[in-house]
Amino acid sequence: MKIAVVENERILVKEAETPRLDNRRGAIVKVLGCGLCGSDIVKFIHKIAKDGTVLGHEIVAEIVDINSDTFFQKGDVIVTSHHIPCGKCVYCRHGNVSMCRHFKETNLAPGGFSEYVYLSDEHLQNVAHLKPENLTDVEASFYEPLGCIVRAVKRANLLNGDNTLVVGLGSIGVLTSQALKAYGYNVTGCDLISERIEFLQSFGINAFDVRKLPDDYKADCIFMTSGADKAVGTALKYIRNGGKIVVFSSTPHDETSYPNNEIYYRELTVLGSYSPSPDDLKESLELLRTGQVKVNNISTEYKFDDIQKAFDDTMSNRIMKAYIKVKSDE
Ligand SMILES: [Zn+2]
Ligand SMILES: [Zn+2]
Repeated sequence: MKIAVVENERILVKEAETPRLDNRRGAIVKVLGCGLCGSDIVKFIHKIAKDGTVLGHEIVAEIVDINSDTFFQKGDVIVTSHHIPCGKCVYCRHGNVSMCRHFKETNLAPGGFSEYVYLSDEHLQNVAHLKPENLTDVEASFYEPLGCIVRAVKRANLLNGDNTLVVGLGSIGVLTSQALKAYGYNVTGCDLISERIEFLQSFGINAFDVRKLPDDYKADCIFMTSGADKAVGTALKYIRNGGKIVVFSSTPHDETSYPNNEIYYRELTVLGSYSPSPDDLKESLELLRTGQVKVNNISTEYKFDDIQKAFDDTMSNRIMKAYIKVKSDE
């Protein structure tokens, strides 16, 4: 089978042995497609992913072999996430599932950018779902990224009708804005790129150039989907006293100073949100299935052999989000 591996600062498509179930429980799935996540880009640029790593985790796939007590069958098209919490450790008991050791250790084997993937029985039981019939493969591939967003929205624990500001309108910002609207909050988005501002407006959501946000605008909660250095200043300017800032992006230089006095005197709450729990994922699929969050027109599709270009175009901001069509149509 073909896999895409990190090698010498490139993404190379290579031949590898096709995984087999043999006597294991779980399933072998044929990957139809896989979204390219911002976290894949970060792992690639900052060389966190060692040579030989297969990135990708936002898969839509067809079961080709299975040994499991779940109701899944050969031929089912599913979505799945890669990490599974243990449910028992100190992190899980406090709701910080994405800090769980088991969560961090579980993964797709070898990774989403691969023609075939082995899924453990735990994946099938906890984080895999049938792809809703009304969704295209590309739309369904947003199951995991939207799960991260559901988590961020829930961690903010807002009141009905609260004013929220989304800083950064890449694919995650656009999805976060739509999810906030679906949950009944007032949403404003901001960015520097006019096409992105207009794109969010096309969903009937307020969006501004960040330099043109009214000075007296104040949000109850701000979602930081941009890791740009200036985003922190924007958040501090537009958060109301006593408000919350959800940190929902990594930043290229981790030297952002910690605004001690603003947090103290203004009673701000700053919280991080990382990766979704099985419940967040279930809710994500429901938002997609019911069309409350619309994800068509966000992804650009690439052939598997063109995966390097997908990485390049994402890094240069030429596109919002890449979807790698792993299965070729012949
Ligand atoms: Zn992702
Ligand atoms: Zn745990």
